[in-house]
Parts: sequence; structure tokens; C-alpha cells
Amino acid sequence: SASAISPALSGDELAVLRDRALRDYDELVRRGLSLDLTRGKPSPAQLDLSAELLTLPVKGHHAADGTDTRNYGGLQGLAELREIFSGPLQVPAAQLVAGGNSSLTFMHDSVVHALLSPLPGAARRWADEPRIAFLCPVPGYDRHFALCERFGIELIPVPMTAEGPDMDVVERLVAGDAQIKGIWCVPKYSNPDGVCYGDETVRRLAAMETAAPDFRIFWDNAYAVHHLTDTHAEIADVLALCAENGNPDRPFVFGSTSKITFAGAGVSFFGSSPANVAWFLGHLGKGTIGPDKINQLRHVEFLRDEAGVLEHMRRHRELLRPKFDAVEAILSKELGGTGLASWSTPAGGYFVSLDVLEGCAREVVRRAAEAGIALTPAGATHPYGDDPRDGNIRIAPSYPSLEELEAAITGLTVCVRLVATEKLLADAR
Ligand code: PMP
Repeated sequence: SASAISPALSGDELAVLRDRALRDYDELVRRGLSLDLTRGKPSPAQLDLSAELLTLPVKGHHAADGTDTRNYGGLQGLAELREIFSGPLQVPAAQLVAGGNSSLTFMHDSVVHALLSPLPGAARRWADEPRIAFLCPVPGYDRHFALCERFGIELIPVPMTAEGPDMDVVERLVAGDAQIKGIWCVPKYSNPDGVCYGDETVRRLAAMETAAPDFRIFWDNAYAVHHLTDTHAEIADVLALCAENGNPDRPFVFGSTSKITFAGAGVSFFGSSPANVAWFLGHLGKGTIGPDKINQLRHVEFLRDEAGVLEHMRRHRELLRPKFDAVEAILSKELGGTGLASWSTPAGGYFVSLDVLEGCAREVVRRAAEAGIALTPAGATHPYGDDPRDGNIRIAPSYPSLEELEAAITGLTVCVRLVATEKLLADAR
């Protein structure tokens, strides 16, 4: 429910709005703020929700199957932890791998292993391909793009719709280019625009013809249980749909507890077909004898089961919801009906995606920085940091206190009003 960008203002109204914005901006700069909306980090109060973890495990050091978690081994991770996350991640526990604190590491390592060793179904390893490309629904997550860039993987932007990536574009591209080996997907409460993939989108991703026999969907379900409303979004089961459509090895599923327990000391997951899991574990085992199973056991004691995870996420929601509500209220009050911006009202996840007038995002971010409000660089939501519209800004409301957040978003709206009205007046001249 974003308000549409439309040229709703007359020239006189525009000049009045610009003058007010200028005064507000001078006042803002005088306040000398130092606020940070750059990254989607849990707040200290959110981390405190998991404080008990630091005293666990108390029930002993042994896993359900008798494994001594203090010792080597257990490459796939504790079975009881994989059981807990099997439902939320829609992967049978036997096909899940539980690892260390970062799912991004699992994504990185999946790419590296595919470069160095042929994937199931591949003619050769990716390093021996003349060229590798990934589809990147935009706006998207900058670390996905940076990971690919680091290995020289070409990034091809694909527009997002309210139902996920534009599947007409995706189907056409993957059918016609065997060098397109993957697509980045954040299927639930996506980073940054909060979109949940529709069932038909997931079905088409699972069923589409790909020229590459070793095409992979990087299904980064980072926000699987991160609801902000009573309506818990459900997405279609990508693993099951791919198998039903004869493409069992197509999806790599990722997830973590980074925004459930501790962002720096949680547990992460990789899930896929039995063939891909065997491939992944074979390579993982060259670099480790096993994960930190004590931390995994700690998480099992703390979260207990899927219901325990959901109950814990309800507590996060109590802390996060007022912040997202504040963002929505301030954006609506200051920018609603002006035609100067539109924004997402996410039902989950960690971000609000703000679209300003074409050609204004960089200048808004620069003006905000001058007023002491740090925003994610404009363009970060696009491959190579290049937003061709220069219109998208990602807002991360989780970390600041409510008071700081309100000051930062109010300040941001001043910058949007100033930059947009100046641009419209310049265009009119
Ligand atoms: N994927 C997405 C979509 C994210 O937004 C984030 C964190 N911002 C991550 C992955 C990072 O996950 P992890 O902490 O498990 O490495």
C-alpha cells in the first residue's frame, strides 16, 4: 500500500513546499544529529530477548543421539536443531545442514564450490565456463551482489513485482542463455521491499526451462518467521515444487537465526535435494570436522521447537512493530499525497523501501548525511550499485531507539521534500 508518485502539486504549492523544506533542512542541520539507518541489525533490546542463551546448555553436553557436542564430528549439524527449522524453512530435516553463525557464508561457499567442482547435473565446473551470470531481482540485497562481483559473476537485473521477480523476464532470459547459472531470491518479506513471492511465481521458477543444466535458485529465506502482523505469510514449497517439476536439484535454500537469536552468534542452514546436500557436505567436510555443536545445542534448549521459535519471534515483533509503525506514520504525515515519494509497508522482515522521484535518491542520501543521518548508499539495492532510476532508498528501522528513529525518519522526509521540490522546480524552469 504505497502512495503513488504523481505530479500532484501546482507550481505555487511547489515553491511553498520547497521554502518550507529549506527552512526545515537548515533547522535539521543545526540540530547536529548523529543517527544511523544503514544496516538491518537487531537492536540491543532484541538481543536481550536471547540473553538466556549465554547460560545454556544446562542439561548437559550430549545431543539426543548421544553425540558429545564438545567433541569433533557431526558435519551436518545436530538433528534436533534441523528438526526445529525444518518447518519454517520447508526442508526435510534429513536434507538440512546446520552450520555456524552466517548463512551468507553458506551462500558464499556454495558459489565457491560450484566454481571449483561440478554441481550435480553440470557439464563442467563454473570456473571453466567462459562466462557466468546470475539474475538479480531489483531492488535486492547488496551482499548477494557483492558476493557475485567478487568472483567475476555477471549480474543481470530483473524487475520485481508485487508477486516476486517478473517471471516473463526471468523465463525468457534463462531459456535463452546457458551461462545464466543462478538467481538470487529472498522469497519472504524480501530485502528491501518486503515482497512475498506468490505461489504462481514459485511454481514458474520451479518449472521453467533453463538453458543451463546446472541452474540454481539461491533461495535466501532470511525472513521466514519474521512477521510484523498477525497474518503470517506462507510461501510455496520451492523444494517440493522443483522435485514435482523434474528439477529436484534446482533450489539451494538458506536461512539463519541471525535475526532470531544473536546476529553474531546464531546458527545457519543450507537445505536442498539429497544429491546437492551430498555434494555440499563433501566439500564442507574438507574445511571442517564439524560445526560448533555446543551453540547448536544451546539453540535447541532455548528455542525448543517450532512453536518456541514463533513465540520468540512474537517478542521481537513487539519491539519492531512500533518502529515500523512510526516509519509509516511519519512518511504518511510528511510525504503522503505529495506525489514526492512512495514506500513499502512491509508485513515482515527488516526494511522499508522508499522510492523518491527519479534522479533524487543520491542527493537525498547526501543531504541526509550532511544532516547527520546515515543511510544505506543510494544504488546499493541494485547490481554494481547502479540504480538506473536513482530513485530507491533502503530504510533499516530496527537498530535505533524509537526516539532516534523518529528523528531520523522525520529528517529524511525533510531531505526528500527539499531535493524533490528543488528538482521539480528546476525541471519546470
Ligand atoms: N540474507 C539476507 C536477505 C539478509 O538481509 C541478511 C542480513 N541482512 C543476510 C542474508 C545475512 O544472513 P546471515 O547473518 O545468516 O549471514
